[in-house]
Amino acid sequence: MARIIDGKQTAATVTDTVAEAAATLEREAGVKPGLAVVIVGNDPASHAYVNAKSRMAKQCGFNSMQYSLAEETTQDELESLVAKLNADPAVHGILVQLPLPRHLDSEPVIQSIRPEKDVDGLNVVNAGKVASGDLASGLVSCTPAGAMILVRNIHGSDLSGLNAVVIGRSNLFGKPMALLLLAGNATVTMAHSRTKDLAAICRQADILVAAVGRPFMVRQDWVKPGATIIDVGINRIDAPEKGEGKTRLVGDVAFDECAEVAGAITPVPGGVGPMTIAMLMANTVVAAYRSVGRPIPSF
Ligand code: NAP
Repeated sequence: MARIIDGKQTAATVTDTVAEAAATLEREAGVKPGLAVVIVGNDPASHAYVNAKSRMAKQCGFNSMQYSLAEETTQDELESLVAKLNADPAVHGILVQLPLPRHLDSEPVIQSIRPEKDVDGLNVVNAGKVASGDLASGLVSCTPAGAMILVRNIHGSDLSGLNAVVIGRSNLFGKPMALLLLAGNATVTMAHSRTKDLAAICRQADILVAAVGRPFMVRQDWVKPGATIIDVGINRIDAPEKGEGKTRLVGDVAFDECAEVAGAITPVPGGVGPMTIAMLMANTVVAAYRSVGRPIPSF
């Protein structure tokens, strides 16, 4: 039976370090890290994510600012708010919750966030730094950064000689995750919807990362015995066993059967998810340290 990777526990360790670093910065430099979270519209799932982020920012001792804009907000209004936050020295991190309502174009909004405040790591400057192997001077996208901490907890920081397979090639997760594994010296394969014989490719993986959005796609016979499985997928499925109309969250991996052969595996929920919020806090405190030229804490 695989070791269950406890993302909640690891995330709590990260946020404890963040809270300590924030307190030190305030005490010694008079700077309180400020995180501005912007949400447009009424999507309940997005509101739940944003509330969790704002709550965690407060727990870390940050100045937590939440901007809830109406569904009919225009592109200009949203970009003006980002410009205002870009210019505000009390704001060290800006996060615009995605997806935006359909009438808004997210790309120019994300690209207008100053790279040093882009705590989601989605600006092309930060993405480009990861692509060029510079993991020190930018801000790394939160979910892959968090997933890498879980990988390092199992394998250490040098992944030399290990095969890693990432299923999914999104800018948000798959591409940066593959680049981070590569920077750790793993031999990396990126798989996607056009990949042939995905099962055979996955069976080569010492580290198998699934980020697709298809419940239970990865089956037991896709898994190399002893492999580490990082399940990034978040899928809501019907759960009639919990009562009529009830649902539950599952990953992209058929957890029970894969746990029988894997060496270590993340659960959903409680694996990668909590790491994403923790790394958002870590990026914000890093941005605040950089704003006053102080050496940054490491996570
Ligand atoms: P996305 O942009 O929709 O990308 C999905 C990827 O999966 C694409 O590259 C797609 O290939 C590939 N794919 C689709 N069907 C496939 C198939 N049958 N076989 C192989 N590959 C297939 O999604 P995303 O934003 O990366 O997110 C992926 C999942 O992770 C979602 O469930 C999302 O909710 C979750 N997620 C979780 C967190 C977290 O905090 N835990 C954060 C981000 C995302 P093509 O490129 O060829 O279309």
